[in-house]
Amino acid sequence: MSDFPIKKLMDGGALSLEEYESLISGYSDEAAELLAKRALELKKEIYGDAVFVRGLIEISNYCKNDCLYCGIRRSNKNADRYRLSEEQIIECCDEGYKLGFRTFVLQGGEDAYYTDEVLIGIIKTIKGKYPDCAVTLSLGERSYESYKRLFDAGADRYLLRHETADKEHYEKLHPSELSFDNRMRCLKDLRKIGYQVGCGFMVGSPYQTPKTLAKDLKFIEEFKPDMCGIGPFVPHHDTPFAHEKQGSAKLTCYLLSIIRIIYPPVLLPSTTALGTIDPYGREKGILAGANVLMPNLSPVSVRKKYELYDNKICTGEESAQCKNCLEQRMLSIGCKLAVDRGDIKK
Ligand code: SAH
Repeated sequence: MSDFPIKKLMDGGALSLEEYESLISGYSDEAAELLAKRALELKKEIYGDAVFVRGLIEISNYCKNDCLYCGIRRSNKNADRYRLSEEQIIECCDEGYKLGFRTFVLQGGEDAYYTDEVLIGIIKTIKGKYPDCAVTLSLGERSYESYKRLFDAGADRYLLRHETADKEHYEKLHPSELSFDNRMRCLKDLRKIGYQVGCGFMVGSPYQTPKTLAKDLKFIEEFKPDMCGIGPFVPHHDTPFAHEKQGSAKLTCYLLSIIRIIYPPVLLPSTTALGTIDPYGREKGILAGANVLMPNLSPVSVRKKYELYDNKICTGEESAQCKNCLEQRMLSIGCKLAVDRGDIKK
């Protein structure tokens, strides 16, 4: 094991895989505090006290995939399936625009209903009505041609968590028809086409180790994603991982600080999953170096159905209530929600 490399990281040096590993296995509250302080300095230099918000619209919980951790996997016969029409999606954007959102994130399972044609229609309608807004897609793996057509229709960003940068670990989280290589191919295609690209992973997913996390950090250091979504793994009762342990809020915050330091301009959400396992999780994430929140803009009638994990928060409130609640929470820690597209500043 190499020396605890906290100083090297804070001074801006790239760490070796072994050093990242010892940074993770050597976690302590004191180290977390030091790194959070450095992460906040770096965030402030680039973004000030602004926290960017993205309106998350969960367009469908139909999914052809069977990821072992996910509550909307196709084998979950208890999931109550729904999909939103173009009209419903636009209504969510109308509501969101009035509330000050300037980015809309369309997220969903891999649902064949949303062909390129259907999505192109939706993207063009949103961009036509709200040209000052960014459209982010989070709809899983598609072909190069499909990503290109959606980009040409006006989509600005794409979120596709890599889930883990360790191929063997990837294979333990996914059925054999899904491959690590294709996931990476998608991320590279998205970048090549010109999207702002987001990757990310769950903290504390089954079979994760300091070694696999070190690979995630190395991947982030090299890929330099525009966005990086990390949140704790939270078990879902109708999946094969129902009885696995949930991830830790402390380790999630530690990793948020490390990622901010590795790549200071990255847009880093403090996730709903973090808010689910800790009542002040989202505040803690922001104080560790995150600078994005993604409140739910989905119609209240479907929110409980987009259940990736158990006990998800904010499934009962109207969008306006969610936004007010977050606004108060951010004020309590000295931050302000920005009415802004919130593009990366690099
Ligand atoms: N189908 C899209 C969107 C997936 S949902 C795609 O493939 O990208 C967004 C993210 O939720 C996933 O990438 C995964 O990292 C996370 N997620 C899924 N199940 C989860 C669970 N049980 N606990 C925490 N996060 C989970």
